[in-house]
Amino acid sequence: MTTLSRSLDTQLIHAGEPETRIEGAVGMPIFQSSTYEYTGASSYHDIKYIRLNNTPNHCVLHAKLAALEGAEAALVTASGMAAISTTLLALLSAGDHLLAQDCLYGGTHDFITRDFPALGLAVDFIDADDPPSWPSKLRRETRAIYVETMSNPLLGVGDLEAAVAFARRHGLVSIIDNTFASPVNFRPPQRGFDLSIHSCTKYMNGHDDIVAGAVIGRADLVKKVTHKLAHLGGSLDPHAAFLLHRGVKTLAVRVRQQNASALEIARFLECHPAVSRVNYPGLESHPRHDRARDLFDGFGGMLSFELRGGLEAAERLLDRLELPICAPSLGGVESLITRPATTSHSGLSRQDRQRLGIADGLVRLSVGIEASGDLIADLGQALRE
Ligand code: PLP
Repeated sequence: MTTLSRSLDTQLIHAGEPETRIEGAVGMPIFQSSTYEYTGASSYHDIKYIRLNNTPNHCVLHAKLAALEGAEAALVTASGMAAISTTLLALLSAGDHLLAQDCLYGGTHDFITRDFPALGLAVDFIDADDPPSWPSKLRRETRAIYVETMSNPLLGVGDLEAAVAFARRHGLVSIIDNTFASPVNFRPPQRGFDLSIHSCTKYMNGHDDIVAGAVIGRADLVKKVTHKLAHLGGSLDPHAAFLLHRGVKTLAVRVRQQNASALEIARFLECHPAVSRVNYPGLESHPRHDRARDLFDGFGGMLSFELRGGLEAAERLLDRLELPICAPSLGGVESLITRPATTSHSGLSRQDRQRLGIADGLVRLSVGIEASGDLIADLGQALRE
C-alpha cells in the first residue's frame, strides 16, 4: 500500500514518523537542543538550528501535516498569527495589493488593515460569496487572494472553488485559513488552493494548551515562507511541537465527534423558542448548505446563534451555563462559549460589526467532546425563561 493511498486516520498516526524509531521510542522524543553538529551544509537554511525550524520535532510535523492535506510541503510556526503574517509578508512586497474576504478572523483583519499601510501594502475586501464583484477590485499590483473556509463567527461558506479559479485566471496566489474545518473536514490543496493556513492552537492540537500555527501547500511557496520565518523568528518551540504532534494524532476522532455533536446542538437550538437564528453550515436552513455538503466531509464543531431576548438574554445564558467555559479560542476538547462582539471581533467598530451581521448578542459556541446529550441539557436549562 503506498503512503498516498492511506486514509487520513492512518496518516495522522504514521505519516512523517522517523523511519527508524529513535532508541525504539514509540512516542516522538523532544529534541531540546537549540543547535546541531555541523555536517557540511552549504546553505544557511540547511544548517540545523532551532530558529530555522528544522529540528527533528519540526521535520516530523512538516511531513505529517503535508500528508494530511495531500500537499507538497508544510511548515509549523509559533502561532496561527505567525503563519498568517509571515505568509503575507513572504508573498507581498511594498506596492503590492491583496484581495481579502470581508469577514475575517479579527487578528488577521487587524494585521492587514493596521500594519499594511506602513509596509506600503494595500488591501481590498471582497464578499467571498459574490465572485462577479471580484474583478472590479482587481489591480495590476494584486498578488494574492485570501479567504477562510468558514467565516468567523457567522459560519458563512464562500465560493471557494471560484476563489481558486479566479486566482489561476489572474496569476494570484490563493490562500485559505482552514482552521475552522481542519484537514478532517476539508483539504484545500486537493481543491487547488496554493496555501492552506492553520492556527494549530485550535483543532490541530485540540487540547487548549499550546499556541502554534502551520502553512501547508506548494513546496516553492512554503520554502519562501520558511525563509521569511527565519528572518522574523516565529519558529515553534520543540516542546510545543511535541504537544502538537501528540495532539494531532487524535484529530480525526475528536473532529468527527465534534461534527456530530455540533449538528445535534444546532438542530436543538434551531427548534428552541428562545432562539431567533442559528448559523451552522450543516443545517438545511444555512444559505450555503449545498455548497458546504459538496466541499466538506463534515460541517465542523463551530456554530453561532442569536436569542430573541438579544444581548441581555445572551448574557444570562452565558452566566447560567455549567459546561461550556466562557473563554475565547476554539477547537479544543472543552466546549468554549463567547460573545464575539467582546472577544474575537472587539477590534472591529460596532458599525463594521453591524454591517457584517455580527450582533452584540451573537453567541459563538465551540463544541468540545463532552457528551452531546449533556451539552444539550445544559443549554436547555440555561435557555429556560
Ligand atoms: N485563524 C483563525 C480562524 C483563528 O480563529 C485564530 C485565532 O483565534 C487565528 C487564525 C490566530 O491563531 P493564533 O491565536 O494561534 O495566533
